[in-house]
Amino acid sequence: MIFLKRVRYNRLYCNHYIDCIISMAQLSDRQIVHMDLDCFFVSVSRLLHPELNNKPVIVGGGERGVVAACSYETRRYGVHSAMPIRQAKRLCPEAVIIRGDYDAYSSHSDMVNEIISEKVPLYERSSIDEFYIDFTGMDRFFGSYKFATELRQCIIRETGLPISFGMSANKTVSKVATDEVKPNNQMKVDSGEEKFFLAPLSVRKIPMVGEKTYTLLRSMGVEKVKTVQEMPVELMENVLGENGVSIWKKSNGIDPSPVEPYHEQKSMSTEETFEQDTIDVQRMKHILIAMTEKLCFRLRSERKLTACVAVKIRYSNFDTHTMQCRIPYTSCDHTLIKYVKELFEKLFHRRLLIRLIGVKFSHLIGGGHQINLFEDSEEIINLYQAMDKMRLRYGEDKIQRAAALSFSLRGFNPFNGLSKSPVGKQTRDTLLLADGDVKTSAPDNTEI
Ligand SMILES: [Mg+2]
Repeated sequence: MIFLKRVRYNRLYCNHYIDCIISMAQLSDRQIVHMDLDCFFVSVSRLLHPELNNKPVIVGGGERGVVAACSYETRRYGVHSAMPIRQAKRLCPEAVIIRGDYDAYSSHSDMVNEIISEKVPLYERSSIDEFYIDFTGMDRFFGSYKFATELRQCIIRETGLPISFGMSANKTVSKVATDEVKPNNQMKVDSGEEKFFLAPLSVRKIPMVGEKTYTLLRSMGVEKVKTVQEMPVELMENVLGENGVSIWKKSNGIDPSPVEPYHEQKSMSTEETFEQDTIDVQRMKHILIAMTEKLCFRLRSERKLTACVAVKIRYSNFDTHTMQCRIPYTSCDHTLIKYVKELFEKLFHRRLLIRLIGVKFSHLIGGGHQINLFEDSEEIINLYQAMDKMRLRYGEDKIQRAAALSFSLRGFNPFNGLSKSPVGKQTRDTLLLADGDVKTSAPDNTEI
């Protein structure tokens, strides 16, 4: 038995080890840059309101909200993102608390995106203020580090925003490097030096390690990355499963993930063609609620917010009407359902039979941990996170609003466990990408 265990252990260890050696050999000549705008929301706010310069600044919602971003001056007092505003105020009473301006953040992020897209062939926009750029192969013509330095200077010059970068052979090490040199700085970790660079750092610096994992690792006596590097991968797997293996690889400076080319998603929508045309207003409202819930879950899963909501109706004579409104950035069901219902009430006035209804969200932007930049409260964030966790774990259809229940688009009632036939004869979900590509769940011959 002991012998078998040892064989299994050796095989597992060898597999990972061989894996790592192959990855390292193949990927060590990559040149990946991680660029991160420093304290982005605060920097943009300071650009627009110079009186905030050199003052401790917190961007967030009202009294019951959470910190969306905070300046370095406040971080010294222990303030950090996602902390309740009340607690942040206690820690740093002199902080100036401002409401964010998401449109300004969005347009400044677009400016940076445009500069990068003009100068490099392959990059990934991983959030509103972070970019990965693949400089592999450019060494032959320029020096990659020199090129990245010039690009950073160009961004600072043209936007007035401080930005930092880390450069290495992979995304993880570059991201950690950026964090180490912030604010307003840059560094390169040479190929082969990744393990030495990571070793003295806290294990919390590894991008996958959140609060819970960190606490668990601390309870095992693991504080520095070096300890993980020296641990057998099997131990990490036993404690943390697949995640443990990933953390072990990242701690050893191994991350083969590629820079994913950036495609801006402009909108997401869903619509329903009824089995039989209807005039039942209540029923249609319930279906719209179910549709909005479904799209909101998709927004939050993709860490996005919307700033424009539209409702579409098609009468039985094929007359089609759409109405939309601009709203503050959000991904909250309860906020968006309110707008969807209002739009539907304004739109549906002819008392004719309806053939199709639809909901569309556009003006999408990556929102990080935010759900609603200006209305976030701890309770709301916790509620949505708990609901989404249940959906991810047990299926999207296992939790939904009571109003949407009887007309579920998902064909399942969680209270009696029975499957129901879908509402309409055809549901069509669409994702519109900026380059004109359309991803749709139904064939194109559906009448739209
Ligand atoms: Mg940043």
